[in-house]
Amino acid sequence: MSENAELSDFIRDIVREDLKTGKHSEIVTRFPPEPNGYLHIGHAKSICLNFGIAAQFGGRCHLRFDDTNPVKEDQEYIDAIIEDVRWLGFNWGEHLYYASDYFEQMYEWALALIRKDNAYVCTLSPEEFKDYRGVPNRPGRESPWRNRAVEESEDLFKRMRAGEFADGQYVLRAKIDMASPNLHMRDPVIYRIKHASHPHAGDKWCIYPTYDFAHGLEDSIEKITHSICTLEFEVHRPLYDWFLKALAVYHPRQIEFARLNLSYTVMSKRMLLELVRDGIVNGWDDPRMPTIAGLRRRGYTPEAIRAFCAAIGVTKYNGITDIALLEHCIRDELNRTAARRMAVLNPLKLVIENYPEGQVDELEGINNPEDPSAGSRKISFSRELYIERDDFMEEPPKKFFRMGPGREVRLRYGYLVQCTGFEKDAQGNITEVRCTYDPETRGGNAPDGRKVKGTIHWVSAAHAQRCRVRLYDRLFNVERPADVEQGEDFKQHLNPDSIGEIEALVEPAVAAVEPGSRLQFERLGYFYADHIDSQPDAPVFNRIVPLKDAWAKKRGG
Ligand code: ATP
Ligand code: MG
Repeated sequence: MSENAELSDFIRDIVREDLKTGKHSEIVTRFPPEPNGYLHIGHAKSICLNFGIAAQFGGRCHLRFDDTNPVKEDQEYIDAIIEDVRWLGFNWGEHLYYASDYFEQMYEWALALIRKDNAYVCTLSPEEFKDYRGVPNRPGRESPWRNRAVEESEDLFKRMRAGEFADGQYVLRAKIDMASPNLHMRDPVIYRIKHASHPHAGDKWCIYPTYDFAHGLEDSIEKITHSICTLEFEVHRPLYDWFLKALAVYHPRQIEFARLNLSYTVMSKRMLLELVRDGIVNGWDDPRMPTIAGLRRRGYTPEAIRAFCAAIGVTKYNGITDIALLEHCIRDELNRTAARRMAVLNPLKLVIENYPEGQVDELEGINNPEDPSAGSRKISFSRELYIERDDFMEEPPKKFFRMGPGREVRLRYGYLVQCTGFEKDAQGNITEVRCTYDPETRGGNAPDGRKVKGTIHWVSAAHAQRCRVRLYDRLFNVERPADVEQGEDFKQHLNPDSIGEIEALVEPAVAAVEPGSRLQFERLGYFYADHIDSQPDAPVFNRIVPLKDAWAKKRGG
């Protein structure tokens, strides 16, 4: 992708160097999701990095399902991942792979390790296994099965595959070093028995390789040059290297970077799954979810997500990224591309006393001040309008530049109007505001040059149409909802106001919009005509973001 052309970071530096020294002539990366959930914005960082490097250096990037644990995996997730990576704008060509297609080769390699006395079948129970492994600052103890005869391990391993044993009865372990300070090196499990059907391999297998054993072998088979993963795998790297060395096969280089953490959201698949399962959100693509499907549903574009990933960069420092930056990226794009329209979310009637009944003025509305080619449209103006309830105050403070008794305000694209009074119902609610307009101020300026600070939006009562609008907000009300104390539940930090649905009054051009379109409702925010819930001529809008840009503000923008 051309937007990556000039990106630079410590991983790209390594890649550049490897090309320069001739260590590699073609760069091969991969994005290796486990299909046990939907992709989220953190995965987008990894996708942009892996596919971005391949594109920037003229190599290729594989999409590989790391499907070694059938119990949690599902075809639904495989399909969703394919759709999401494609939607983000990346293309793996014919390089779509499944780790489970390599099971036969991995099995052969496991046998090879046994024959070299680098692996053995162990009979310890999971509890005993833990106990024998010990703690980091004290060596573990060797399993009594560690020196089982090679032939016996080979025989047992073959019978594990043949289905002779129950889950957990045996495991295959690498024979490395029970005294290593790195627990991952203390004879890790490389195969376990699981009588479970696999979404891709079917019922062919009842033993499955562990991540640590499988991952490097998958990379090796595909001749990956740079195996890029997140920092928590740094301590697994010695093991990654050990397997490849022990088997004397092609040896990719593992490089770790800091995962993305975003404020006001959770990113672990376990937590996201819990939100879906407990019905706290409306599925994986709920517009409040940080999933790619959720962001798409909310109205985010692939361009904005890629811009975000480029903006956060790639480092080895584990931090937390302000969600305001993500919101800034979509605003920045939609400011350039989205048509401006008027919509009133919380209507209050405004009657212009001196405007003739039955008269309609066709005003000119600029579609996008950032894009002259977007042109303009006609907006009907009449005696009765709706304005935003918030734009009127009975007793306004000095700094309130909108409507109040006696005050003059500008109606967007229209005239200056002066408030002459208002009406209330028995409960004291304001039901109507009254005003007069100055016919000399068409277009919004007074010929005598008097200054009017406030401009408010409106819709004509006779012409307005109704639309459903969903006002989404952040799903959590604390910055780090996943950092819960022991025994606490991350769900206690849910924002009770993360969704509100209203019926808005909109100008006719809004109701006519195609599903999948994005608009700016003036002064309110950017909205998306939901591609699933909208009907022709009856769009349902999701608020993507309000207009106020906390990110730009923070940086003095
Ligand atoms: P789990 O929640 O089960 O740990 P995972 O998020 O690690 O799952 P995978 O399917 O294993 O999910 O991830 C695929 C790739 O995406 C991996 O290379 C992983 O390092 C990367 N990845 C996952 N989460 C993030 C994140 N928050 N930021 C950057 N990369 C990520
Ligand atoms: Mg993982």
